[in-house]
Amino acid sequence: MLWGAMAPVLRFAPSPTGLIHIGNARTALLNALLARREGGTFILRFDDTDAERSRAEYAEATERDLAWLGIPPDRVHRQSDRLAIYRDAADRLRAAGRLYPAYETAEELERRRRLQLARGEPPIYDRAALRLNAADRARLGSEGRRPHWRFRLEARTVAWNDRVRGPSHVDCASLSDPVLVREDESFLYTLPSVADDLAMGITDVIRGEDHVTNTAVQIQIAEALGGSPPAFGHHNLRTTTGGEGRSKRSGALALKSLRESGYEPMAIASLAVLVGSAEAVRAVASLDELARLVDLAHLSRAPAKFDERELEALNARLVHEMPYSAIRDRLAELGVDGGEPFWLAVRANLTRWTEAAEWWPVVAGPIRPVRDDPDLAETALGLLPPGPWTGETWRDWTRAVAEATGRKGRALFMPLRLALTGLDHGPDLAALLPLIGPERAQARLAGEVA
Ligand code: GLU
Repeated sequence: MLWGAMAPVLRFAPSPTGLIHIGNARTALLNALLARREGGTFILRFDDTDAERSRAEYAEATERDLAWLGIPPDRVHRQSDRLAIYRDAADRLRAAGRLYPAYETAEELERRRRLQLARGEPPIYDRAALRLNAADRARLGSEGRRPHWRFRLEARTVAWNDRVRGPSHVDCASLSDPVLVREDESFLYTLPSVADDLAMGITDVIRGEDHVTNTAVQIQIAEALGGSPPAFGHHNLRTTTGGEGRSKRSGALALKSLRESGYEPMAIASLAVLVGSAEAVRAVASLDELARLVDLAHLSRAPAKFDERELEALNARLVHEMPYSAIRDRLAELGVDGGEPFWLAVRANLTRWTEAAEWWPVVAGPIRPVRDDPDLAETALGLLPPGPWTGETWRDWTRAVAEATGRKGRALFMPLRLALTGLDHGPDLAALLPLIGPERAQARLAGEVA
């Protein structure tokens, strides 16, 4: 037990500015599964203080995606409902002399930055605003300039024991004082996140390694607010096989598109959690089992590569073993009503369950048979046994056809498959034949669309 007697409280805190993708799913799952395993709480918090870019429809889509993955949150919060808490935190930082007004425009800052770079200096904010006195500020105010607000960092090294990366530190002397409040008084992500983590009693923040620098800043802010910061763990980021990350807004590898193209949630969860871990990537059957495999301390720090082919392989494994009871309703939605025998006949040939729809006409018709060996088809037609057909019918029938024609192996089976299904590949015909049934089989062997 890592948390002593305290039940952990974890959160997934996306900005609802796009659809969540498999990389976000990694973050969400690590937090949710740790909470589940330790009997803790999993909070979904929408970091939506950027009113311009945040969209209710993305928040809804995120909730839907998490529910589909099997990790609905215990609670949902929206930062846009909690602005009073952040204003109060900002006031406390001001009172403590840690939040100061600055008036530079973006152009001024950019000019100074270039100058610093030209002089070979690090491009750190020079704190010119700290040298303004009350009269300067009054003058700027009377000119109609409104300040943004920066957090005054202490020039010290902030260290923490990262739950993924081990002992970590950032020298804050090398950072610019971060802007926490914009000119229009809206909040950037940094302060609300800290205020909420403290107010919600978050014990652990597991997030992407792009937040390592933020963590040092946020630890200083938490301390300035008199709080004790949570533990932090930074996992590696998803990249595609090509090595380049894909953006949340591009829709690429979005959970929604993966769901719509027929992937199983457990295939995605298994890959999202196990890739780059000490465990072999495999199709895990349940979230409880997956939760037992989470081991933050042994996550690789190398970029985790999400490979869609790997996802397909995991998915196929799950589909090949999926019982009919787990798929019945979905098949019905597709208009496939072949019952359990159909599902058991085709599942081994599927990568994704949705492909069952492609096999349905083979059983239920109509398809155009391929009769590339009319003589064989004629003989076989004459030897078709009367119904009802069973799992043995195929074997008995093809034995009889083999005896009558002297054919065997591929020369026997391929023309029959082509005639019965119109395709040169597919599920085991012993299982398919009874589903096709005598009437359709006769017609197809005679070369008719049926
Ligand atoms: N909204 C931030 C993000 O999506 C949250 C980071 C965090 O977990 O604190 O990157």
